[in-house]
Amino acid sequence: MTAASNRTRAVLFDMGGVLLNFQGAPGIPVGKLDFRGREALLHFLADRGAVLSEDDLDRDLFGPWRRRFQRRREAGREADWGPHLRRLRKRARVRTPTRTLLGIWFRPLAETVVPLADAREVLEALTRQGKRLAIVSNVPLPGSLYRSILERHGLAQYFAQMYFSYDEGHRKPSPALIRRALADLAIAPSEAVLIGDRRSVDIIAGRLAGVRTIWLRSDDGGGPSADQDIDELSELLALV
Ligand SMILES: [Mg+2]
Repeated sequence: MTAASNRTRAVLFDMGGVLLNFQGAPGIPVGKLDFRGREALLHFLADRGAVLSEDDLDRDLFGPWRRRFQRRREAGREADWGPHLRRLRKRARVRTPTRTLLGIWFRPLAETVVPLADAREVLEALTRQGKRLAIVSNVPLPGSLYRSILERHGLAQYFAQMYFSYDEGHRKPSPALIRRALADLAIAPSEAVLIGDRRSVDIIAGRLAGVRTIWLRSDDGGGPSADQDIDELSELLALV
């Protein structure tokens, strides 16, 4: 073990592509899963007396949300579902909470998401070594939807804290999520490591926050180099 490893007290994890495999989806339902989610949402509303069409759903909710979603990078924050869900609720005359409505659309995707093969073993080993673990993740929906996936697969228990961009009002490459995690854990940047699979997002954020960075190699290799690169999550154990 190197001197640098001895100083590592906290490991900050990106989520998608590092802990959970979203099978190519950008954290939201697309294609067939999007279709199935919209069908489920329409059925849910119909059961409550609101007969809406696919077009209604797109005009009130998904269309206007998507236009904001496409500008999330420039905005530096996730697109707010709030105004679009209010429009939908008004049309459908329901009071169903945000988490419930979005959860219905999200469920078909959530059911396909699985942990990366060695995620649990790595988290277990780091926890046994006394490392503090946190998640710092860009997500386009409320973080509780993703927390549920982690809970279902027995991974949530390992994390002292989770920071999701939708809830925090900042998204990586801003270092805000990482800085918040370090402040809450009372850990200095020099004592923390960030692992992510996107250099253009995770590694930039980690460098801006002044933590050591590890890139889990992926197709997203644009952006600054990380301090270390790995091919498998389990290689992390030898580096922290
Ligand atoms: Mg990722």
